[in-house]
Amino acid sequence: MKRVWVAAVLLMLGGCGDKDTETKSSEYVFGTLVDITVRGVSTEKANAAIAELREGFRRMHTDWHAWKPGGELMRLNSACKTGEPVQISDFTLPLIKDAQTYFETSDGLFNAAVGEIVGAWGFHADEPPKGRTPPFDQIDRLAAQHPAMTDVHVDGHTVTCANPAVGLDFGGFAKGAAVDWALHTLKSKGIADAVVSAGGNVGTMGSHGDRPWRIGIRDPKTWGVIASVAVAANESVYTSGNYERFREHDGVRYSHIIDPRTGWPVQHVLSTTVITTDDGSLADAASTALTVAGPDDWPRIAKRMGIDTAMLVDDAGHIYVTPKMAERLIFDGPKPELVVRAVE
Ligand code: ADP
Ligand code: MG
Repeated sequence: MKRVWVAAVLLMLGGCGDKDTETKSSEYVFGTLVDITVRGVSTEKANAAIAELREGFRRMHTDWHAWKPGGELMRLNSACKTGEPVQISDFTLPLIKDAQTYFETSDGLFNAAVGEIVGAWGFHADEPPKGRTPPFDQIDRLAAQHPAMTDVHVDGHTVTCANPAVGLDFGGFAKGAAVDWALHTLKSKGIADAVVSAGGNVGTMGSHGDRPWRIGIRDPKTWGVIASVAVAANESVYTSGNYERFREHDGVRYSHIIDPRTGWPVQHVLSTTVITTDDGSLADAASTALTVAGPDDWPRIAKRMGIDTAMLVDDAGHIYVTPKMAERLIFDGPKPELVVRAVE
C-alpha cells in the first residue's frame, strides 16, 4: 500500500506547550500517512475541522489519482489519447495550472505530463514490478514523443491535450498541494496553529509553543539523521527521495523520478530537501525538479524556481547546500563536509 517514499524527513521534536489544547490525527492519503496536529482550540473544534480534511483527502485520492480509474485526472488522461476536450472542476484545475507553472520555471525538468512514462516503468502500481524486464522500447518511444505540460491547453474549465503521449501525474507535488490545502482549510475554520505532515514532508502554520519545531533530515544511505533544522512559522520542508521507490533489473536500480529529457530514471542524486515559506506545493515540486537537475545544474533550477534553501545528497556522499541551508543545519554529531553552492 505504501506508494511513496515515507519518512524522508522525520519529525523529531515539537515545542510542546499546552498539551490540553493539542489534537492529533493520522489519515492515509495517496497511500501516504498524513499527520495533523492542531493547537490552541478545543478538541471538539479541532475534530470537526479534521473531519472536513478527511473528506477533502478522500476526494484528492479519487480525483488526483494517476492510475486508479474513477476520478477526474484519469478521465482527462483517457481523453488525452484522442485529444478530446474535458471539463475539469475547480478542485483539480489549480493543480494543472500549477504544473504548467512548475514546468516553465524548472525549464521542463518538473514535468507532470510524464505519467505515461512513469506508468511504463511500472510505478503506477502500489508495488513496482519485480523480476520483469522494463519495456525499454515502449519507454523510448514515449520519450521520443516528448510529452510536456505545454501540450496541455486550458481554456476556462476546458482542458485539451495536444499530444497522445501525455499522461498527467501529480505525484511530484500532490503531497505539497494536499498539505497546503489542509492548512488553508484549518485557517478558514479559525485555527491558527497547526502542523501537517505527509510522508514526513511538513507544512506549519502559526506558533508551536515556546520552542520552534525541529525537523530531522535523514541520511538517505544510513537512515540516521544527518542534521536538523528549526522550522519557522508558515514554512514547508519537503524531501524528494530517489531510492526508496524503485525497481531492479539485472542489478540496476531504476527509480521513480524520471528525467523528462530522456524518459529514464534519475541517477546519482539520492535525496533533495527544499524549504519554502507559505508554499508546500512549490517545495514539493522543487525538490523533485532539483533531483532531476542533478549535482551540477541544481543551483540554476533553484534560482529559476525562486528557491534559496535547499540540500542535495548524491550517491558519492556529497552534501550540496545553498548558503541559507548551510546556516540553518544543526548537527548533533561531527559536522560533515558541505559543498556550498550559491543559487545562480
Ligand atoms: P516522493 O514524493 O516519493 O518523495 P517526489 O516528490 O519527487 O518523491 O515525487 C516522485 C513522483 O513524481 C513520481 O512517483 C512520479 O509520480 C512523479 N514524477 C516522476 N518524475 C517526474 C518529473 N520529472 N516531473 C514531475 N513529476 C515527476
Ligand atoms: Mg516532490
